[in-house]
Amino acid sequence: MKKKNNIKILLAEDNLVNQKVAYNLLSEEGYHVVIANNGHEVLNLLKKEPFDLILMDIQMPEMSGMEATQAIRTQEQETGKHIPIIAVTAHAMKGDREKCIEAGMDDYISKPVNPKQLYDVIKNFYSDTATKEASNESYDHGMVMERVGGDETLMREIVNIFVEESPVLLNEIEGAINLKDAKKLERSAHSLKGSVSNFSAKKAYDVAYQLEKMGHQGKVDDAQKVFKNLEKEIETLTRELCSHI
Ligand code: MN
Repeated sequence: MKKKNNIKILLAEDNLVNQKVAYNLLSEEGYHVVIANNGHEVLNLLKKEPFDLILMDIQMPEMSGMEATQAIRTQEQETGKHIPIIAVTAHAMKGDREKCIEAGMDDYISKPVNPKQLYDVIKNFYSDTATKEASNESYDHGMVMERVGGDETLMREIVNIFVEESPVLLNEIEGAINLKDAKKLERSAHSLKGSVSNFSAKKAYDVAYQLEKMGHQGKVDDAQKVFKNLEKEIETLTRELCSHI
């Protein structure tokens, strides 16, 4: 497992009070934190050094969190990398979450930041980063057990739900590809992505996310091959989940 002080977080926030509060919360937990005051600084820092995760304020002067995220995701289309970006916004408006996801963010928390919520959302991602390097497992068993509070009955229940739900979602995705229905592809791949994220199933998550993006960009023609990958990942994940319960 990657130690917290090896997790490097880029904190993008223009408000000095918010900066200080978030910096302290993260440092106390042992994270290594670097601050950016606006979107431009985010992009410049990323050019210089690698980060594990970005906490991105939405409203910043010069370059907003949305613009910075879009620029990062565009660059990543060439590198094939994907840095987790968590939106932090003061306005808990309806539709905010959708706007953030649309802009390419992976998750969302609202301000003022609730410490537990902040730690949980980061943990979701950094444990993925850590296990990706450490093992070939299709999912993070320790992380899931922690998530269900060590309750094995609950674990069995969520695995059973997944076993029933995932073929239905796969069917929907395949149907959307056959019908060249980009909106439906985006939606169904997004659902499956959410479903596998509960198991910290990194590979399946990445492939589902790739299909979601293809749907979003209307690139349904290339989706068939990726879908075959997704089927394979879901099959492996299902087998491993079932063998552990
Ligand atoms: Mn701001």
